[in-house]
Amino acid sequence: MDEITDATIAEIEQELAGDGVWIEPSFATTHGISAADEARIEEAVASTGRADLKVVLVEVDSGDDRFQGSFANLSAWLHDDAGGDATYVGWNRWSEPELSVQAFGDQPGTMSVANVANHEHPDDVADQVVRVQELLDDGNADALWAEVPDDEKYSWTADEGVQASEVVGGLGIVVALAVVVAAIVAWRRRRRARPSGFTLPATVLHTVRAAEDRRLRQQADAEVLALGEAIGSGEPGDSAHALDAWQQALDHYAAARSVLSQAAVPADVVGALVLARRGDEARSRAQQRKPSAWTPRPACWFNPLHEGRTSEVAWRDADREVDVPACAACAADVRDGREPRDILDLIEGDRTVHYFRLDLGAWTRTGYGSLEPDLLGALRSSGKGALRGRGTRGRRGTAG
Ligand SMILES: [Zn+2]
Repeated sequence: MDEITDATIAEIEQELAGDGVWIEPSFATTHGISAADEARIEEAVASTGRADLKVVLVEVDSGDDRFQGSFANLSAWLHDDAGGDATYVGWNRWSEPELSVQAFGDQPGTMSVANVANHEHPDDVADQVVRVQELLDDGNADALWAEVPDDEKYSWTADEGVQASEVVGGLGIVVALAVVVAAIVAWRRRRRARPSGFTLPATVLHTVRAAEDRRLRQQADAEVLALGEAIGSGEPGDSAHALDAWQQALDHYAAARSVLSQAAVPADVVGALVLARRGDEARSRAQQRKPSAWTPRPACWFNPLHEGRTSEVAWRDADREVDVPACAACAADVRDGREPRDILDLIEGDRTVHYFRLDLGAWTRTGYGSLEPDLLGALRSSGKGALRGRGTRGRRGTAG
């Protein structure tokens, strides 16, 4: 649906408090969920032994201001309102649309649950949801997922020659991250206007951390894998510009993988996404019929994950003024004399801090490439340490 309104959220919360299941009507139609299927899902939720299961099936639109296509965002929101221990089952749209499981509080592990359910029932959402309940009760999802052959888990690796073991290693990092992560990305949520530097209650912070971190990491994994697949199945044109752009695509892909294959903190995961998106632009240019030379487009300095064209704005920060590229929304805010509402924030301790106030090596020095177009060069010249990411030690940014 276009936008999940407050009224819809109220309706969802009411249903979840009742039988624990809410299925948006057009979602049911699109995915062939019958009344009998819905009854099966309700029965599964009622019979769950170990998890506090809640099912929310809706297409979260990527244009939805609050939730931005992410079920993790929607579930974090619902959980903030409802509190308690809960495992939310829903639907993600980005990359490959598929079932998503988000747990809060004291709940059984969910690591491989959605993977197994999606793999066993690729075409039936109701079956997937029912399977999630069984897997949570049995606690055997990790073991089952380990038995799935790599070429079925990551089908593209078979064509492309990328070692599946590297991919699996990358996923292992997700588990480690939940424990060791030092700085977490959070998007400021717009319902409650929070000034910069606000303090979150610890429980809310934990919720936002876990959900945002997981969502971001999954998104980065998905986009980097998609880029690898596109490179593996594509070919550049034969002009010099096409070959140059293709080399850039390969270099950006390699750098993004390198960042993700190390113990990437969220600041690095954002960097990997920026690299992957640049790489994909270069790849696309290399495959045009008569490409011009490719150079990276500057991303929005306020939040490098903002998409679309940028324009220069003058940003006054503390005692300096700098010219920075900004996306349309951020530029409009600055021109109206406001701080942009969706600046990329990292969590440091129990506070959120604008990323550019931290010392994140090449990421902050270049504004994730928005101030210095040659992001790869900046990463190389700051050595491997920059690719590893050093967390959030400093408080004084160098980029503005
Ligand atoms: Zn922006």
